[in-house]
Amino acid sequence: MVRDFAEKEINPKISELEKKGEFPRDILKKLGELNLYGMVIPEEYGGAGLDHISCNLVIEELARICPSIAVTVSVTNSVYCYPVWKFGTDEQKQKFLLPCARGDFLGAFALTEPQAGSDAANQKTKAVPDGNTYVLNGVKAWVTNGPESGIVLVIAVVNRGEDKKISAFIVEPGTKGFEIGTVEDKLGLRCSSTSEIVLTDCRVPKENLLGEEGDGLKIALHSLDASRIGIGAQCVGIGQRALELAIQYAKEREQFGRPIAKFQAIQFMLSDMAMELEAASMLVMRAAYLLDQDRKMTAAASQAKLYASEMVNRVVGMALQIHGGVGYSKEFDIERFYRDARATTIYEGTSEVQRIVIARQLLS
Ligand SMILES: Cc1cc2nc3c(=O)[nH]c(=O)nc-3n(C[C@H](O)[C@H](O)[C@H](O)COP(=O)(O)OP(=O)(O)OC[C@H]3O[C@@H](n4cnc5c(N)ncnc54)[C@H](O)[C@@H]3O)c2cc1C
Repeated sequence: MVRDFAEKEINPKISELEKKGEFPRDILKKLGELNLYGMVIPEEYGGAGLDHISCNLVIEELARICPSIAVTVSVTNSVYCYPVWKFGTDEQKQKFLLPCARGDFLGAFALTEPQAGSDAANQKTKAVPDGNTYVLNGVKAWVTNGPESGIVLVIAVVNRGEDKKISAFIVEPGTKGFEIGTVEDKLGLRCSSTSEIVLTDCRVPKENLLGEEGDGLKIALHSLDASRIGIGAQCVGIGQRALELAIQYAKEREQFGRPIAKFQAIQFMLSDMAMELEAASMLVMRAAYLLDQDRKMTAAASQAKLYASEMVNRVVGMALQIHGGVGYSKEFDIERFYRDARATTIYEGTSEVQRIVIARQLLS
C-alpha cells in the first residue's frame, strides 16, 4: 500500500516541491489518513497496531521516493508517539497521543540546544515549578517538524536544590510563550521543515510532565534507540532507490558504442552497492526484531544506524558517479538523494556518537 502510494501520489510531485523547498502538507495529510503517524501504537490509542519491523518497512518505502517525507513520518512515530505511549499515563495517552497517532497532526521532539548536541545532557532549558504548572525558558535547536507539528516533546531541566533533573514535557504549540525561531535553510531534506523553538515563560500544566521529574534523559535515550532504527530504514530506502536509478541509467547511457552497464567498472560499483544495501537492511531488520521482542537493542540500533548511514553515503556517491555529469544536475533525481542522504550520519546521534554507544555496550 505504501509503495503504491509513494509511487503514484508522491513521486510525480516531489521534485518540484523540493526545488521550491515546500512542505508537502497535502501528502502528509493523506499519510495521516492512512494511519501512518502512530504505526506501533495500539488501535485503542489511535494507532495502526503494527510491529516495529512493519513500521520500518513503511519508512523504507517512503524514503525510496522521498527521504524528507520519510523523516517527517519517522520522527512523529518514533520520538513523539512511541515515548508518549511507552511512558505516558492513560490520561496523557488519551489527550496527547490519540489525536497524533490517528493522523490529526504531526509530532516533534526537541532535545538539541545550541550548546547541547552530541553532549545532550548539557541542557540549559529550564522548567521552574510554579503551582500547578512548570514555566519553561530556553531555546531548542534543529527540531524536525518544528514549524509543522501539533505537539512537541520538549526536554528541559528542573532544578531541585543541587539536583539537576532532566525531564520531558508535552507542549502544545499554541501555548503562550511558545514560538518558532529560525527555520533552517538546509543542504538536503528540503521538504522537511526544521527549526528552533523558543520558549519564553511558557507555562505548561503539571499533567504534561511525561514520566517523573528526572526521567527526561532515560525517555530521550530509549526513544532515540528506537528511532535510530528508523533512520537506518530511511537509509536503506534511499540506497535502494539510488541503486535502481543507477541500474536504469547504466543500461540507457551509451559510451564507446555500448551501454556503460557493459563496463566492468560500472558493474563492480553496482555489485558493491547491492551487497552493502543487503547488509544494512539485515542490521535494520535485526534491530527492529529485537525491539519487537522487547529485548536489549541499544547496540543493535546504533550498529544499524551507523552502518546504514555510512553505507548510503557510499551508495549515493557511486550512483551519482555512474550518472556522470547529469548526476550533478537537478534534472536527475539522484542529485536530490545525494543531498538528502548526507544528514543521516549526523542526526539522531552522529557516527562518532554511535561508535561511542557501541563501544560502551561492548565494554560494560
Ligand atoms: C536535518 C536535521 C534534523 C534534526 N532533527 C532533530 C530533532 O528533531 N530533534 C532534535 O533534538 N535534534 C535534531 N537534530 C540535531 C542533531 O541530533 C544534532 O545535530 C546531532 O546530535 C549533532 O549535534 P551537533 O550538531 O551539535 O554537533 P556536535 O555535537 O557539535 O558535533 C560536532 C562534531 O564533533 C563530533 N563529536 C562531538 N562529541 C564527540 C565526542 N565525544 N567524541 C568524538 N567526536 C565528537 C561529532 O560527531 C561531530 O562530528 C537534527 C539535525 C539535523 C541536521
